[in-house]
Amino acid sequence: AQTAQILDGKALAQKIQLQLQNQVRSLQTKIGRPPGLAVLMVGDNPASAVYVRNKEKSCHKVGIASLGKHFPENTSQAELEQVIQQLNQDERVDGILVQLPLPKHLDAVSLLHTIAPHKDADGLHPVNLGHLVRSETGLRSCTPAGVMKLLQEYQIPLAGKKAVVVGRSILVGKPLALMLLEENATVTIAHSRTQDLVGVCREADLLIAAVGKPQLITAAMVKPGAVVIDVGINRVEDEQGKSQLVGDVDFEAVAEVAQYITPVPGGIGPMTVAMLLQNTVTSYSRTFGIA
Ligand code: NDP
Repeated sequence: AQTAQILDGKALAQKIQLQLQNQVRSLQTKIGRPPGLAVLMVGDNPASAVYVRNKEKSCHKVGIASLGKHFPENTSQAELEQVIQQLNQDERVDGILVQLPLPKHLDAVSLLHTIAPHKDADGLHPVNLGHLVRSETGLRSCTPAGVMKLLQEYQIPLAGKKAVVVGRSILVGKPLALMLLEENATVTIAHSRTQDLVGVCREADLLIAAVGKPQLITAAMVKPGAVVIDVGINRVEDEQGKSQLVGDVDFEAVAEVAQYITPVPGGIGPMTVAMLLQNTVTSYSRTFGIA
């Protein structure tokens, strides 16, 4: 039977959106315009289209203007760089993000470098990553920031605890490890070359999976009473051939061992969007010296 308590990312994300909505309402009367977020999408990746639509819907709820653009698959690097430079100058725009993955002919890293760091809503510009390494103020990447916010909401102690992050991407694993370190956890980063992944994970008081492999984390890898955060989003078919979303964690089995667990969907996914909105509002208020 499931004994773990659910860490409800969906509920917390809604709460944050309400707070942001109020904040935007009161700032807007001082500033005279709403915050603006420009999401740039290139091509027709169906998963990306869903994410972009979600982000735009959430912007609308909070009162952020969506100033995004959708470009055809064959758009050139130079064209996109020019668009980003215009958005950097555009006073209505507080946040810019490039929806990944991009078509193969485009260089995502060089586009990221083109975004003005103070408008880098995804927190992936090297300047913002550098601020994170130094524990300085800056815009922080949304998925790891969402994980930290959820842990904080449930008052999960981190100082001195053993945290194992499985996955070392620049998008999730690496920045998350730094944020956990900042909160004084003893952090291990595991990846595809890690020896004895089962043994490493089993040591964890806090186990975070950010890999992209369904069922990677089994109950045997979880220390009884551990906190388990599932960042993975994988589309699989169930027995009836229906498509569904699952994480990296064998939820049913692990929920019998863990003390806390995040669901997929309804865990880190909605928290990521909430942090994107938060970053946009933060950059908006900083521009006017209010935060
Ligand atoms: P990447 O593919 O960039 O990174 C995956 C990481 O997992 C790599 O570091 C890789 O190791 C490691 N890995 C792969 N296989 C294994 C294995 N068998 N054992 C241990 N480690 C392994 O993925 P992302 O970080 O971008 O995303 C991870 C997951 O999170 C995906 O499912 C993605 O969809 C999801 N995601 C969810 C978000 C949300 O909003 N909830 C936002 C962003 C991502 P190595 O470096 O050695 O190759």
